[in-house]
Amino acid sequence: MDVGGGIRMTTVVAIDGPAGSGKSSVSRAAARELGFDYLDTGAAYRALAWRCIEHGIDTYGPRDVIESLGSFEYSIGIDPDKFFVRVGSEDVTEDIREPRVSAIVSRVARIPEVRSYLVELFRSIIASSTRPGIIVEGRDITTVVAPDAEVRILLTATEEARMGRRSAELAGVSAEKTAQELSSRDAQDSQVVDFMNAADGVTTVDSTDLDFDQTVLAVVNLVRTQAG
Ligand code: C5P
Repeated sequence: MDVGGGIRMTTVVAIDGPAGSGKSSVSRAAARELGFDYLDTGAAYRALAWRCIEHGIDTYGPRDVIESLGSFEYSIGIDPDKFFVRVGSEDVTEDIREPRVSAIVSRVARIPEVRSYLVELFRSIIASSTRPGIIVEGRDITTVVAPDAEVRILLTATEEARMGRRSAELAGVSAEKTAQELSSRDAQDSQVVDFMNAADGVTTVDSTDLDFDQTVLAVVNLVRTQAG
């Protein structure tokens, strides 16, 4: 895919889907299997939300969040074996998964200026990949960030399956609370981007009846056949 005007040999694989669809872990494992890089775009929205909390930035209105973009120093590891997320010099890989971040991230992600800023950032990270390919996962990758990607996938699962997986991931948090958090986040996020329906040319992988390894294999096989 050509993301910067020049000729590129890197295959871009775009994967979208709702929370709890297993996108992150499946994308990372598929990238490992294929020898590709891996970009988790949700991590950037989370890092920005985390920074707003830490710096007491008001996220109810867009103004302060937009202003904070000017000093948002963000870096992420795209090697699937060396994943990290940093804001400035601080490692926030774990912190950005905290429920307090999940609770406000959609508010930050709905600001158009935030989205256009991060979309540009994602495109430059994609362009920096030196591997044969990069798997990029999020909500608007197949439609906005990389609509020309060689392989475009919507990873879905029934709401029941997604809730079950996420509560298994977050030990100690009640299943009910997890279900509430996920469905309210999906409801807010889907007002901004449609990640529940596959856009034209996007292949749906429904993982409801697949285990983790089978889902990874389905993605890897699609990449091998479609990016040939
Ligand atoms: O994928 P993850 O659940 O970590 O994403 C966190 C949040 O980031 C989502 O709930 C959504 O608000 C936002 N997001 C987005 N567009 C993306 C990726 C994530 O709006 N491409």
